[in-house]
Amino acid sequence: MTARFVVDLAALEANVAQVRDTVAPAEVMFVVKDDAYGHGIARACTTVYQAGIRWFGAFDVRTATAVRQVVGAHARIFVWIAASPADIEEVVQHDLDLGVGDRALLQDVAGTALRHGRRIRVHLKVDTGLHRNGVRLDEWEEFVTRAVDFHRSGQIEIVGLWSHIAEASDAEDDAAREQFERAGDILSRAGVTSVMRHLAASAASFARPEFRYDMVRVGAFCYGIRSAGGVNERELGLRPAARLEADVLSVAADQVSIDVGSLDGVPSLLSGRVIVGTPGGTRRVIHVGESESMIESWPGADVGETVLIFGPGTHGEGSATDIAEALNTIGEEVVVRVSPRVARLYESGDARG
Ligand SMILES: *Cc1c(COP(=O)(O)O)cnc(C)c1O
Repeated sequence: MTARFVVDLAALEANVAQVRDTVAPAEVMFVVKDDAYGHGIARACTTVYQAGIRWFGAFDVRTATAVRQVVGAHARIFVWIAASPADIEEVVQHDLDLGVGDRALLQDVAGTALRHGRRIRVHLKVDTGLHRNGVRLDEWEEFVTRAVDFHRSGQIEIVGLWSHIAEASDAEDDAAREQFERAGDILSRAGVTSVMRHLAASAASFARPEFRYDMVRVGAFCYGIRSAGGVNERELGLRPAARLEADVLSVAADQVSIDVGSLDGVPSLLSGRVIVGTPGGTRRVIHVGESESMIESWPGADVGETVLIFGPGTHGEGSATDIAEALNTIGEEVVVRVSPRVARLYESGDARG
């Protein structure tokens, strides 16, 4: 198979610099769920660590542990799901920062800390409307009281206040932010005043300065994946860091075949709906099969030539988000579904103008 997912580490680095410039003085947490949005944790984290990123955000403990192995002891790694007592043990062992959004977990964390004689750094999560864990505002005060008790007795250290927002409409985000503010006031009144507050992900971190607080948690934009229906990459100052390409296997009169298909993660729904980049310019996808796809031909098309399925197109071919929009989904989804059996290659930018 010639299909390959090529990550331009220089583009990743430039995107991270752009994100940091845009949100400064807020700190940037680099979000790495789904194997760094399919870009590969090891290379992605090494690159951004060297570029100065010191906060990493992982959905699960396994991922957070993998990040720790890559970036060493001096980075802060925030993990927002601890699903079991074993997970909390890992949090201690790998010196992770843990998001805590329910009372039972808070209790377990305090218990684990006591057993180890080690303080666990926690970021308290308030639910501001997404209902994906987090403590509701009407239970927040009681939750904070318990957390502050554990903080005073030295089992936890409350270092953060956070929530997650939909970033789908300004009105909903504003309502969420109002709740976030109220949660922050309650926490301050309980005597906890020097916490890092973090609320925004990619879209709000660029578009809504008042959502930046002390830190933003950014995944998509660091990888150069713009929001579906949103501002284009150029206006954001970003560039897709990854591209998916494959070589021409055979040439017929009016179409060529490439050896990548739905089993490799190219959505079969793309048939007839998107354009891809070819040496002869942009061409329509005619059909996506399981392991081969048919593309409109171009004059002089030849076996071995490269077709760009998505990436930083220079002639109007699509980014992952362009493809996502044709499917009514988001760019992350398109990138992340590229199968692990597609080779990951890394380059540092200067090879390709
Ligand atoms: C995925 C995620 C982010 C990053 O979102 P992007 O839109 O990719 O920047 C931030 N915070 C949480 C809790 C997430 O799940």
